[in-house]
Amino acid sequence: MFDDIIGKKSVPGTGSGTDDVLRKKYLSDPNFCPFCGFDTFTVDGDADLDMGNTVEIKVRCDDCGRRWTDVIELQGSEPVVINVIFE
Ligand SMILES: [Zn+2]
Repeated sequence: MFDDIIGKKSVPGTGSGTDDVLRKKYLSDPNFCPFCGFDTFTVDGDADLDMGNTVEIKVRCDDCGRRWTDVIELQGSEPVVINVIFE
């Protein structure tokens, strides 16, 4: 039963399982950098609003400088991070 928590399953074709673990961790609590745990991010540029109710927002951690892209869906009036793309 702990397999889900540990997240040792990797998605085929996405390379190492490390990103998958980080992705699950980030999606469960998208308020912290998945790489270093810092809680302050800088948003690079504007959200792309041409994708209907799903927007992609580029984010950079203020501490470690790693970048990733939040994929956010508006569920009702609530923005929810539904996926994350690591660069
Ligand atoms: Zn960081």
